[in-house]
Amino acid sequence: MPVIINDVKLDYKDVLIRPRRSDLNSRAEVNLFSEMTFRHSKRTYNGIPLMASNMDSIGTFEMAKTLSKHGVFTAINKYNSIEGWKKFATENPECLHNVAVCSGIAEGDFKRLSTILTLIPELSFILIDVANGYAQSFVNYIKKVRHAFPNHTIAAGDVATAEITEELILAGADIVKIGIGPGSVCTTRTTTGVGFPQLSAVLECAEAAHTLNGFVIADGGCNCTGDVAKALGAGADFVMIGGMLSGHDQCLGEVIERDGKQLKIFYGSCSATAMNKFFGGVAKYRSVEGKTVEIPYRGDVEPTILEMLGGLRSTCTYVGASSVQELPLRTIFVRCNEVVNSIFGPS
Ligand code: 5GP
Repeated sequence: MPVIINDVKLDYKDVLIRPRRSDLNSRAEVNLFSEMTFRHSKRTYNGIPLMASNMDSIGTFEMAKTLSKHGVFTAINKYNSIEGWKKFATENPECLHNVAVCSGIAEGDFKRLSTILTLIPELSFILIDVANGYAQSFVNYIKKVRHAFPNHTIAAGDVATAEITEELILAGADIVKIGIGPGSVCTTRTTTGVGFPQLSAVLECAEAAHTLNGFVIADGGCNCTGDVAKALGAGADFVMIGGMLSGHDQCLGEVIERDGKQLKIFYGSCSATAMNKFFGGVAKYRSVEGKTVEIPYRGDVEPTILEMLGGLRSTCTYVGASSVQELPLRTIFVRCNEVVNSIFGPS
C-alpha cells in the first residue's frame, strides 16, 4: 500500500532562524571560511562554503576567476573543452583549489574526466552530477571513479533522502549533493510529481552524512541570502547556487536589449534550450524538466557575491556564531506562516 509521511517537511520559506544572545561586536569578526577533511580523499579543504552551480551558464571559468578571489567555489560545467581547461589551468593556477571538474555518467564522460585530471594534476575536486542520483548505475559509476582516483575529493548527486546519502558515501563519495526539484528553473516537480522539501532534505541528509564523516551540498532553492543562511544552519557544508548568480557578466550568453531593458537568458540544465544546445533536440523518450527565463542583466558578479557574504556575516552575528561552521550549532528554526512583509512588493 502507498505510504503517507504525515509529519510536515519544510522548505526555506517555511522557517526563520531565531535570534540569540551574541558576544560578537561586529560582522567583521565573523569567519566565513570552513575547513573540512574528507572521508575518502583525506584532503583538507578551506574556503567559503558557497558553490556556483555547474549549470552551463553559471559554472564558467570567468565565474571561477571572480569567485575564487573571495574564497568561493565554482563547479565548472561539463561542456568545457579539454583545451579550455588547459588554458584556464595554465593562466589561473591560483583558482584550481576552488573549482571542481564535472562529469555525467554517459558514454565518454569517464574518459574526458580522466584526461582532464591527468593533464591538470593540481585539480583535486570531482563532481559527478546527474538529475536523478537514485539509479544503481550512478552508484556503480561513483565506485569506478573512486577506484580510479583514490586521492581525489568526490562530490556526487543529486538525491534528497538519508539512506541514499549514506549509500553514495559508502560507494566512495566524500560529499553528497542534495536537491530534487527545488531549483529556480527546475520543473521536475510539476512534470513528475517527485521531490522533497529542501530544508528538511538538507536537515535529514546532513545528519546522515555527518555520522559517516561525509558532507553535503544543499543544491538549489535559495532565492535570497537568508535561504543560504538557512541551508547552512540546517547543516549543509556547502550551498550550491544557480539563479542568484544568473544574469551577470561572468555567466554565459549575450546581453539582450528589449523595450529599453537589458536582459540575459537563464535556463535549466534539462530545459529545451539546454537539450537543443547540447544534444540537438529533446529525445523522444524523455521530458523537458527545466525552463528558460529572461532575467534583468546585473553586471559584474562581484558586488552580488560581496552582498551575499555580508548577509551571511550578519546572520552569524544575529545568532552569536563566530564562524559559519558554528552556525548549525547556534541555529534554532521557527516555523512561520509569513516570513516577510510584502506590503511594498517582494523584498
Ligand atoms: P537555483 O539556485 O537556481 O535555485 O538551483 C540551481 C540548481 O537547480 C542546480 O544546481 C541544479 O541542481 C538544479 N537544476 C538546474 N537546471 C535544472 C533543470 O533543468 N531541471 C532540474 N530538475 N533541476 C535543475
